[in-house]
Amino acid sequence: MHSSYNPESFGWPAHPKIVPFTYYSAKGFLPIPFPSGVADGTQDLWTQFLTELEPLIDGGFMPGTCWGYENRDIAGTNTRSFHSYGLALDINAPYNGRGGNGGNGRFQIPRSAIAIANKYGMESGLQWDYTDPMHFEIHLSPSEVAGNSVSSFTNDTGGTDTSSIASLLGNFSPLLLIGVLVIIGVVLVATQT
Ligand SMILES: [Zn+2]
Repeated sequence: MHSSYNPESFGWPAHPKIVPFTYYSAKGFLPIPFPSGVADGTQDLWTQFLTELEPLIDGGFMPGTCWGYENRDIAGTNTRSFHSYGLALDINAPYNGRGGNGGNGRFQIPRSAIAIANKYGMESGLQWDYTDPMHFEIHLSPSEVAGNSVSSFTNDTGGTDTSSIASLLGNFSPLLLIGVLVIIGVVLVATQT
């Protein structure tokens, strides 16, 4: 993870291609659009990060309060924000204003988000002196992002992959439904003879 606050110093162009991005909730909540988009190539990394972050937030992500690309400087400075490169997201903005310390209230970013962000090569605004709890930014080069697996971001040894469990359940539920319908059919036939 790069410690510089200038993405161009670790390989990003001054104006990366920005693409639309929508997060589809692993918990069945509403899709969360980031209407202004993110840097092309970062979508999978953001999805993996958000999938892991979502269960830790009471209420998950609130549509309409999550932001991505915006061409602007860091407030009070002449330094371009990571938002200007499509390398930053703000989550549940009205509930996570500057100076906050994170927490477990409704739509609040918990402090455990720091470790998840770091695992994916990101920095959390909760790590800063003047905190910005809603804010997460990517500190990886384009090629590191393109590597696109958790093991390439960190030395994480793994654990329960909740997204694959969710997809497994998703695959099983139609079979379960068919099974129930067959049993009902057998019972109906049995009761009519
Ligand atoms: Zn931000």
